[in-house]
Amino acid sequence: MTDRCNFRCQYCMPAEIFGPDFAFLQPDKILSFEEIERLVKIFVSLGVKKVRITGGEPLLRRDLPKLIERIHRIHGVEDIALTTNGTLLKKYAHDLKKAGLSRVSVSLDSLNEERFFEMNGGRGKVKTVLEGIEKAAEAGLLVKINMVVQKGKNEQDIVSMAEYFKDKKQILRFIEYMDVGNSNGWRLDDVVGKKEIIEQVHQISPLASVEPAYKGEVATRYQYQDDSGEIGIISSVTDSFCSNCSRARISAEGKLYTCLFATEGTDLRELLRSGEDDASIIKCISDVWENRKDRYSDERNEQTMEKRKKSKIEMSHIGG
Ligand code: SAM
Ligand code: SF4
Repeated sequence: MTDRCNFRCQYCMPAEIFGPDFAFLQPDKILSFEEIERLVKIFVSLGVKKVRITGGEPLLRRDLPKLIERIHRIHGVEDIALTTNGTLLKKYAHDLKKAGLSRVSVSLDSLNEERFFEMNGGRGKVKTVLEGIEKAAEAGLLVKINMVVQKGKNEQDIVSMAEYFKDKKQILRFIEYMDVGNSNGWRLDDVVGKKEIIEQVHQISPLASVEPAYKGEVATRYQYQDDSGEIGIISSVTDSFCSNCSRARISAEGKLYTCLFATEGTDLRELLRSGEDDASIIKCISDVWENRKDRYSDERNEQTMEKRKKSKIEMSHIGG
């Protein structure tokens, strides 16, 4: 929806790089609601059933519920989800649900105000995000929580986060800190892996693994054996899942990416704005999709530092 954000999470948009002089996309470079609607229709004609709205912070985009309404009306769209940092959710939850949103993933890295503040670049409060989560649940949206775990920053919050959301009967998903983009200074040593996360949560209540809900589900699921809910782990670093990935991503400026770690995208905005008909846009997308060979996470360990550092698209451009 946008490459802008009201947070400056160190692992995504560090304030030293995304500062006051950073050149964000100008409004005319960003896909309009009409263009997004047309692209969704095209993707649906190619078999897409699920649409996820993300960013940057998608709730910064003016009139977002109106776009969701338009997407909801498209025949063949079965599920619309939103990923957000939750700061504006209290304000918009009801309108989003009314517009046809089914689910929301809210990012929250700690329940400790001080640590959360440090991780989001001094921009947001835990209390605000929790209020947003509550409003979303009240509005009837299915809510999941995303927590990026970073060594030395918030691994001490794994257990308290798991306990809190177990009590709330909401699914918490732990995300391994990833080497997306070129800005976050990622080091393998800063990753807290799936195994360690499971060991910690297991102490609260033993876990049993659960079959994926559908092919291509990115989180590995675990259920508390006392039947009190489940957690998920997105382990793109220690247990990659490239071969199951079925996500196509479109940046705010209309580039199509077939991988979170891609270096280049295909410019669909140019096709939309130069008067191409649907058939030629469909051909372009099909060619890209059929020829995709991305296996970045599978190959991560074999890659040289040089290759890993190759100018990758930033997470705030394609949304996680
Ligand atoms: N602003 C929204 C949010 O934070 O939920 C949506 C966009 S954000 C890029 C999408 C997801 O990517 C968030 O859950 C965020 O925590 C995650 N993310 C960003 N950078 C990451 C990184 N380096 N490693 C792992 N997850 C990351
Ligand atoms: Fe913003 Fe989301 Fe990136 Fe944090 S993770 S800086 S909230 S886009």
